[in-house]
Amino acid sequence: MNEALAEAARAIRAADSVVALTGAGVSTASGIPDFRSEGGLWEKHDPQNFHYSRFRADPEGFWRDRLAMFEDIYAGGDIAPNAAHEAFAALESAGHLSALITQNIDGLHRAAGSGDVVELHGTGAEVVCMDCGEHDGADSAWETVKAGNTPPRCDSCEGVLKPAVVLFGQSMPQAELHRAQSLASNSDVFIVAGSSLSVEPAASLPRTAARNGATTICVNLEETGFDADYTFTADVTDVLPRLVRAVRKP
Ligand code: ZN
Repeated sequence: MNEALAEAARAIRAADSVVALTGAGVSTASGIPDFRSEGGLWEKHDPQNFHYSRFRADPEGFWRDRLAMFEDIYAGGDIAPNAAHEAFAALESAGHLSALITQNIDGLHRAAGSGDVVELHGTGAEVVCMDCGEHDGADSAWETVKAGNTPPRCDSCEGVLKPAVVLFGQSMPQAELHRAQSLASNSDVFIVAGSSLSVEPAASLPRTAARNGATTICVNLEETGFDADYTFTADVTDVLPRLVRAVRKP
């Protein structure tokens, strides 16, 4: 693996544009369960309760159920960025990462210090007002919900607040999607980390990059079915810090 890692690091150093795509596997090391996996959250909490139509019909119940689910997620203690998040932040600050595209909604890439993050499914760190569209940090909404005052409401207009994430039944934000596709097409190196590449549009992005001549690097605990130039079937918190060290200290 060391020689492949050194070669992948050389490709990153030589590239003008390096773009990364991350999925649930980057967050599991921080204690956030993969929703779709066996024993995952969707076996304990009914996905139908988190559908957009349910939010529209019953925002009070939606927020109560979301609180119950988050109490499950955070039962293990505080959730903080891990070595994989930190590796991407370090790669960006070293000038070797143009942008990071993520399927995750936990806000951990920004918390680790990544600046240019394209959040394909939005972010749970913010809420959005259904009436005026204003975005705000999610902390005060959560305080309100924990105090039993649901749904939380907008400071400016009293409209109902929704987590700024893409719920089931909602379409993906087009601006983010187009930016992700454009970043993939124009990248020289495209890194996939912690994504099984089983859902769109994530599945297409590395293929778009490869078709346009990018060198592709894939780090995931399981095989993905994507034939990358460099594949590391291993833990992201192990491989990514080593890769970034190799980029910075040739
Ligand atoms: Zn409002």
